[in-house]
Amino acid sequence: MTLSRGKTALLWISFLAILSLAIFAYLDREGTLMWMYKNRSLKIAQLKNQTEQWLAIRTWFNSRARTDMPTLTPWSAPIIWEGTVGKPVLDNYYKQQKVTIGLTVFAIGRYLDKYLKNFLTSANTFFMTGHNVIFYIMVDDLTKVPLIELGPLRVLKVFQVEKESRWQDISMMRMKVIGDLIESHIRHEVDFLFCMDVDQVFQNDYGVETLDESVAQLHAWFYNADKTAFSYERRPESAAYIPYGEGDYYYHGAVFGGTPRHVLNLTRQCYQGIKEDKEHNFEAVWHDESHLNKYYLLNKPTKVLSPEYCWDYKIGIPSAIRNVKLSWMPKEYEEVRSNL
Ligand code: UDP
Ligand code: MN
Repeated sequence: MTLSRGKTALLWISFLAILSLAIFAYLDREGTLMWMYKNRSLKIAQLKNQTEQWLAIRTWFNSRARTDMPTLTPWSAPIIWEGTVGKPVLDNYYKQQKVTIGLTVFAIGRYLDKYLKNFLTSANTFFMTGHNVIFYIMVDDLTKVPLIELGPLRVLKVFQVEKESRWQDISMMRMKVIGDLIESHIRHEVDFLFCMDVDQVFQNDYGVETLDESVAQLHAWFYNADKTAFSYERRPESAAYIPYGEGDYYYHGAVFGGTPRHVLNLTRQCYQGIKEDKEHNFEAVWHDESHLNKYYLLNKPTKVLSPEYCWDYKIGIPSAIRNVKLSWMPKEYEEVRSNL
């Protein structure tokens, strides 16, 4: 059978069209990612990460379960909103792995009297229930640590730390102390670590859906805000400087986490920035939180937590906030801030 010239050409054209479509579809995911990153070394690292994470993520994360809020970052990290996660799958997985999760918290001066008991009692009930947990408590007065009856699989370790005289310094020195503690203890003892402020209370299950290599918390007051409103450090003299037009989200300094290796890197880099600023007699506008935001701009988190994981009820309860796992304690500044 012979084909006319026209028909042969048509066949070739259709064949080539199908082939190029197939190649295009195949390249699309990686091609898009490649395009997104300006820095070449970051490009390769991110690509590897994301591809690996994507394979695992499909078994437990449904990004389409919430349509009212973005559930993926531009670099394809999941943003964990209520409803997006298949919790039983994850609970089984992490139980089989027998993971241990650490939680550091500082309670110095009046924060020890005022907040530690509620924080610990609620963490005992709601933080990683059913999994091994180690609480690392840093205080300036060991005799004031509240006695609470711990549930099964929970261990409490108390450390004494020096009290800085300014509250800003107490907040910032946490980066140094956490780093040292990871090197001396934590990295030998846990698989994942969270670091939290003490002036908050757990309200509901705060579970293994929050675990990842590098975890950042969306700030309750800014999750819906325009980027220009983010309270990043805007003065170029600071190591925490982020110019207008840059930045992805405004992250909350009251919660960060990840693998010990990652959190060590984070605390070291943030502390480095804090020290550089101090050498120039400079202090970033929101102290450690400003440096944390700079860190996450340069080192994108692999998981982001919705503000349901650290909510301020002063805002009210918008419809997007369906299940609050941790909430801010109201603060009367004159009363609790140690040195005003
Ligand atoms: N902190 C403390 N004693 C102080 C000041 C701060 O223990 O006098 C610790 C405590 O864990 C607190 C955290 O540092 O939650 C951050 O300080 P704060 O909560 O006052 O900062 P904010 O949430 O207001 O930014
Ligand atoms: Mn706080």
